[in-house]
Amino acid sequence: MSLRLTDVTLTHPDGAARLTALDRVTLEVPRGGLTAVVGPSGSGKSSLLAVAATLIRPDSGTVTLDGASTAGLTRGELTDLRRRTVGIVFQQPNLLPSLTAAEQLQVMARLDGRDPAKARGRALELLDAVGLAGEAGRRPHQLSGGQRQRVNLARALMNDPRVLLVDEPTSALDHARGAAVIGLIARLTRERGTATVLVTHDRAHLATADRTAEMRDARLTPLAGPRPPAVAGW
Ligand code: ADP
Ligand code: MG
Repeated sequence: MSLRLTDVTLTHPDGAARLTALDRVTLEVPRGGLTAVVGPSGSGKSSLLAVAATLIRPDSGTVTLDGASTAGLTRGELTDLRRRTVGIVFQQPNLLPSLTAAEQLQVMARLDGRDPAKARGRALELLDAVGLAGEAGRRPHQLSGGQRQRVNLARALMNDPRVLLVDEPTSALDHARGAAVIGLIARLTRERGTATVLVTHDRAHLATADRTAEMRDARLTPLAGPRPPAVAGW
C-alpha cells in the first residue's frame, strides 16, 4: 500500500473554538490505483490531501507514505520524504511566468539536487507523455488553460513520485478539457504505478476511477467497491 491514512482527525482554529476538517478518516490507496474523492466545497477534501502530503500534521491518527510511517519524523525528514515520494497538483497551476514548459519541470529536479542534464531529458519525456511535446519551449501565457494544467501534472511527476495527490484540477476548465485531463491522470496512474488521489466536485469524473469515496462534513465514506469487469458475464 503506497498511501495509508488511518483514523485521521484534523481540526483548524475557528475563532475561540476548533473546526473539524477531518473526522476519523481512513483511506488506503494502492500503487497504480486511482481513488476519486468527491464532496461539496468545505467538506474537507483539500485538508485530506494536505494531511496525505504531510503538509499538515493531523491532531490524531497516522499517515503512511510508501511504507514509511510519518509519525515521529522531524520537519526536515518529512520534507525529504515528501520530495522523494509525493507529487502534488494544486487547483491552480502556479507556473512561473518567465519559464518555458520544460524549465517549469527542470526546476523541480534542481530543487532536489538531481543531475540537470538528465532533468532536461526527463522533462521532455514527461511533456510528451501529457501531449505537449510541441509546447516544451512555450511560456505560460502562450499556453491554454488545459495545457497549463497538463504542465502542472507533468511537473508533479518529475521526481517519479509513488503517490500523486491532485486537487480539483478541472475547476478552471470546460467539461471536455476537464474530462481529457482526468483521462490523462487515470492513464498516467496506471502507466507509472502511482497511488493517486483525485479530489473533484464533479461526479461525472467518478467513472474513470478504480475506487470512489465521498467527503461530507469531514467524514469519508466509500461510494462503491472496485469497478465491475468491463464485460459482464451475463
Ligand atoms: P474542501 O477542499 O472540501 O472545500 P477544505 O479542506 O478546504 O474543504 O476545508 C474544510 C473545512 O476546514 C472548511 O470549513 C474550511 O473553512 C476549514 N479550513 C480549511 N483550511 C483552514 C485553515 N487553514 N484554517 C481554518 N479553517 C480552515
Ligand atoms: Mg478544496
